[in-house]
Amino acid sequence: MIEDKNQQSTQLSDLGEFALIDHLTEKFKINHKSTVKAIGDDAAVLNFENKKIVVTTDLLVEGVHFDLSYMPLKHLGYKAVMVNLSDVYAMNAKATQITVSIAVSNRFPLEALEDLYAGIETAANIYNIDLVGGDTTSSTTGLLISVTAIGEVEDDDEVYRNGAKPNDLLVVTGDLGGAYMGLQVLEREKEVYKVNPNSQPDLDAYSYIIERQLKPEARKDIVELLKDLDVKPSSMIDVSDGLSSEIIHLCKASNVGCDLYEEKIPLDPVVISTCEEFNIDSTTVALNGGEDYELLFTISQDDYSKIKANPNFTVVGFMREAEAGMHLVTRAESRIPLKAQGWKNFNA
Ligand code: ADP
Ligand code: MG
Repeated sequence: MIEDKNQQSTQLSDLGEFALIDHLTEKFKINHKSTVKAIGDDAAVLNFENKKIVVTTDLLVEGVHFDLSYMPLKHLGYKAVMVNLSDVYAMNAKATQITVSIAVSNRFPLEALEDLYAGIETAANIYNIDLVGGDTTSSTTGLLISVTAIGEVEDDDEVYRNGAKPNDLLVVTGDLGGAYMGLQVLEREKEVYKVNPNSQPDLDAYSYIIERQLKPEARKDIVELLKDLDVKPSSMIDVSDGLSSEIIHLCKASNVGCDLYEEKIPLDPVVISTCEEFNIDSTTVALNGGEDYELLFTISQDDYSKIKANPNFTVVGFMREAEAGMHLVTRAESRIPLKAQGWKNFNA
């Protein structure tokens, strides 16, 4: 884990809003030709010539989407960018610009915002994204961060949720459930810490899943790989709320059904062992856990030979006529209807 290294505390009121914005954003570089005017005017100016543009926004609220007792601010900045880039990639588009808006209470010193922006800058550098604007305001309680991501897509390359056809293969990237199990470990350590603040947790065995929770990566590589393999998915979505809810989105938008095979769901060994330790069913975690930021897509069976040898992809099922419904086919070969458990933030 990267620790927030700033120990000093400079009051935000000592700087004023404009000096703060300058200070936080001065290190960001502009790389894209499409960015005509970035920070510093009343609005950014972008020129994509004849390309289609995708735009997506997410709002993250302290206490709802993140807990600063175990989420370092640097990671929060990074993750806030990732959740948006993931939505751009889920359209089969290339992400090019972001805007970042924050609302902060006076509980946060300048150094805390420097850490937040260090994470945003790291993400922008690694994913080649221009920061082109935002807004800065005060909040009476916690921290809010909203990122808008902008991307471009050539010709008719964009992929929607609604193009899946019966008999298409359902494919997922990477592995699932890690971010949720990482959160379970962090929540447990938080409780231990409350009882004994001197305890030194040994989290090495969980580093993969903790990283999945605190420092997720959006699958930019997959959009590039699909292009190289000459595969255009018939539908696509990112896995932010759990496999079950994303499959239901694809099926409803495309008016198809689906058989998902339990035995095919890709799980990391650390996810399996941590599920055993917590006595949680690993399939349930993959179906309902969320925050994996993998891509879930469908392809025509004709494209199967193009993806089958690639370790990034797992075929987890196939699409059916809508009348067949949406089911999990278990290892014991029973058929269980898929249920959406998304929106978990609202029914807590
Ligand atoms: P306005 O009064 O027109 O909203 P601001 O003073 O809020 O302008 O912003 C000045 C410039 O700084 C604009 O380009 C804006 O997009 C940018 N900006 C403001 N806050 C942020 C932020 N938190 N991160 C990045 N850019 C920001
Ligand atoms: Mg403003």
